Amino acid sequence: MRYAIQAEGLVKRYGETVALDGVDLAVPQGRLLGVLGPNGAGKTTAVRILATLLRPDGGTASVGGFDVIRQAHQVRSLIGLTGQYASVDEMLTGVENLVMIGRLLGMPRAESRRRAAELLERFALSDAAGRAAKTYSGGMRRRLDLAASLVGRPQVLFLDEPTTGLDPRSRTELWSVVRGLMADGVTVLLTTQYLEEADQLADDIVVFDHGRVIASGTSDELKATTGAQILEVRPLQADHLELVVQVVSDVVGISPELNGGKAVVPVRDPAVLPAVVRRLDELGVVATELALRKSSLDEVFLAITGHLPQDGPASENVEGVVDTAATAKEKTFA
Ligand code: ATP
Repeated sequence: MRYAIQAEGLVKRYGETVALDGVDLAVPQGRLLGVLGPNGAGKTTAVRILATLLRPDGGTASVGGFDVIRQAHQVRSLIGLTGQYASVDEMLTGVENLVMIGRLLGMPRAESRRRAAELLERFALSDAAGRAAKTYSGGMRRRLDLAASLVGRPQVLFLDEPTTGLDPRSRTELWSVVRGLMADGVTVLLTTQYLEEADQLADDIVVFDHGRVIASGTSDELKATTGAQILEVRPLQADHLELVVQVVSDVVGISPELNGGKAVVPVRDPAVLPAVVRRLDELGVVATELALRKSSLDEVFLAITGHLPQDGPASENVEGVVDTAATAKEKTFA
């Protein structure tokens, strides 16, 4: 198989810190690889090496068949890169930013203008094209930044935490833009701390922790690695939660986590469901929610690493993960 991005045994050290500790990656052409991992896992370091911005201390990597060290120039002509911190010029308008990049890439003025207009239209920025980027919202800036990385029609795109710090609506908008790129056949490597984002967009996922790939596969394959489904039970009456916990603990043999008024526990045997129903019925407890579902990527990450991606406590409300991570990241901007 021809891989658009391939890395073998990448190592990068910063003094005592081992940022990458022997990372292998392989992204087939036209696919999106989600690189998932908490702060400091090594995601940005890997992207910077693949984008020719950083030399590895060990290992090899190629993009589009070109070696990232020996053929960096050819690699650069194939790739686009969007970082966590939008790199647009705040004082320039949207259209000026894109035209400037076209000119820097050697495009004639008329073509730069055409390409800028096309991208602004595609990213729903046409109305704001004549405004200085400093007046854009966070979501608009990210879209402009992404548009900027596409001026040169890259075959391979690196998106380094493209939605970190964005509100949920802007995040969803950006996801639909990324889906459009995938439909065009662009190969994408996207790093994220958001499990939901990897779940939504990625064909394949690798999980980074402490500079290593600790798991890889499709979202479904990763979910299957926990070997468990998740049982969720929410009583109609909130004061029955304690009884529910007791019943679930007895039947499943594990104490459930409490999550927003629900008892949540991994189960290996689906037969526990009717058993739980019977016991609750005997106790006169009515459940408004009673479900067996596949484990989420949050739970997969927790099962593999023993912690959630944002380093939160394991028992924290799982549904709160995305926003908690965004808040934590925003704090680091301040
Ligand atoms: P984040 O989500 O915070 O961007 P990340 O997964 O992208 O995290 P990296 O930025 O690649 O992680 O960092 C990996 C490790 O290398 C971290 O421990 C980080 O502190 C360290 N590191 C990264 N860049 C440097 C540098 N220029 N000098 C020293 N240490 C660095």
